[in-house]
Amino acid sequence: MHTLPFLTLDKDVRQLRESDLEAFSRQVSGGVLSPADGAYDEARRVWNGSVDRRPALIARCLSDSDVQAAVRFAATHRMLTSVRGGGHHIAGNAVAEGGLMIDLSGMRSVRVDAARRTATVAGGALLGDVDSATQAHGLATPLGINSTTGVAGLTLGGGFGWLSRRLGLSVDNLVAATVVTADGAVRVASSDSHPDLYWALRGGGGNFGVVTSFEFKLHPVGPEVYSGLVVYPFAQARQVLHAWRDFTRDAPDELSVWTVLRKAPPLPFLPADVHGRDVVVMALLHSGSVAEGEKAAAPVLRFGDPVGVHVGPTPYAGFQTAFDPLLGKGGRNYWKSNNFSALSDAAIDVLISSAASSPGPECEIFVAQVGGAIERVRPNATAYLGRDARYIMNVHGRWSDAGDDERVRAWARRAFQQAAPHANGTGYVNFLTEDEGERVTAVYGANHERLQTVKRRYDPDNVFRMNINIVPGPAPNMKAAIS
Ligand SMILES: Cc1cc2nc3c(=O)[nH]c(=O)nc-3n(C[C@H](O)[C@H](O)[C@H](O)COP(=O)(O)OP(=O)(O)OC[C@H]3O[C@@H](n4cnc5c(N)ncnc54)[C@H](O)[C@@H]3O)c2cc1C
Repeated sequence: MHTLPFLTLDKDVRQLRESDLEAFSRQVSGGVLSPADGAYDEARRVWNGSVDRRPALIARCLSDSDVQAAVRFAATHRMLTSVRGGGHHIAGNAVAEGGLMIDLSGMRSVRVDAARRTATVAGGALLGDVDSATQAHGLATPLGINSTTGVAGLTLGGGFGWLSRRLGLSVDNLVAATVVTADGAVRVASSDSHPDLYWALRGGGGNFGVVTSFEFKLHPVGPEVYSGLVVYPFAQARQVLHAWRDFTRDAPDELSVWTVLRKAPPLPFLPADVHGRDVVVMALLHSGSVAEGEKAAAPVLRFGDPVGVHVGPTPYAGFQTAFDPLLGKGGRNYWKSNNFSALSDAAIDVLISSAASSPGPECEIFVAQVGGAIERVRPNATAYLGRDARYIMNVHGRWSDAGDDERVRAWARRAFQQAAPHANGTGYVNFLTEDEGERVTAVYGANHERLQTVKRRYDPDNVFRMNINIVPGPAPNMKAAIS
């Protein structure tokens, strides 16, 4: 009789009987892949090409009941379990080596209720799925800036993008979520149904169950918005970043201006002699009327002497895909991120010197301007704590040759460490690498203990541990004994 080796939650190796696998496959309508299947190799791949894990099984779920079957199967065998939404998390937590991958990539439906201004989004949908469905009605909800990112992971960690300074984080627009919890039950979390779970899901990551659907509030946006790129020579970096920092202190909430320090890609609006040279890019989007946007963003074109300007009215959904070509699937990636409440001159100097030592043409330092509506929500209103960040720096180490692994990772770590003394000590779970588990307490700060309590209630055995993990808190009687 054939058996299939797998890892348990305790990382012991056990064998699965063929008959158990066959019975499981009959319960999952999208099928279950094992290493012998032709589609297995593609299905196990995630966005970060450095992640090369081989799950024992991949359950291709198409419905809530498929997910329930997968969660119950994992519980029966105590199988190490991961959940794949869009597969974009840098740490590769969507794939468990030797475990069960609950794959939601077949669940991408988006239903828009234009009259109620809500969208119901399936747990494996990508940002582009939501943007195209909602923009057909001139509506949108705040998500990230890369259309191939998964809605699920992004939202569960917080979720910010071009609309967030005006409309808040993705979690601030989450009305309800349908979740399969570790006991295999389907629960709806909202302000009046499992409010503790609803609180925890809004920033606590994939720790509390498998979210099969999200309901978001929608807002009028576009369809055309004023957006684009202004590119400055690196020689003017200090002047430009100072001007940007001063400008962003009072910019209207509708306008977001992000900085990217990198080598210029061969964009058609840039002169050929700039291609491959270090540049400072101002990427901007104003989500009000195009006329207001043009007026509000005009100073961004005067931070220095640009070498290229490409701004104007653009379809919102189109701008949401603008960075996709630079951030395609399969590249090797290692990211490090800091939150800043303010950017001092010294912090700016660190950003510039780190960018000047960039180890490759795909590496970049991104600094998102956040604040606005995000910081007007109390830090304990949802699990997402880092609301006092005005800027989020993300060092994107990105390369293609495995021989460069250590060199690029070392650069990203150095850039992070040199910026850390100027940062505020919090962080963003969605940007943490696999070797940063210890940052979880700083990221959740005063919300961490409450998250542990909710984790104990809904996932006491820590089944959902392939994430930036919140370990279940002690049982109430133990807690009393400890204190
Ligand atoms: C190119 C790129 C651009 C990005 N841009 C932004 C941005 O603009 N703004 C921003 O806020 N973030 C951004 N991010 C970070 C992004 O939010 C995270 O990578 C996020 O985790 C991606 O979600 P996913 O579903 O694609 O990831 P996955 O890798 O599938 O999952 C990430 C985590 O969430 C869990 N998870 C996934 N789906 C579910 C589910 N349905 N139920 C329960 N748990 C689940 C997984 O188990 C895993 O732990 C970006 C990332 C990349 C790679």
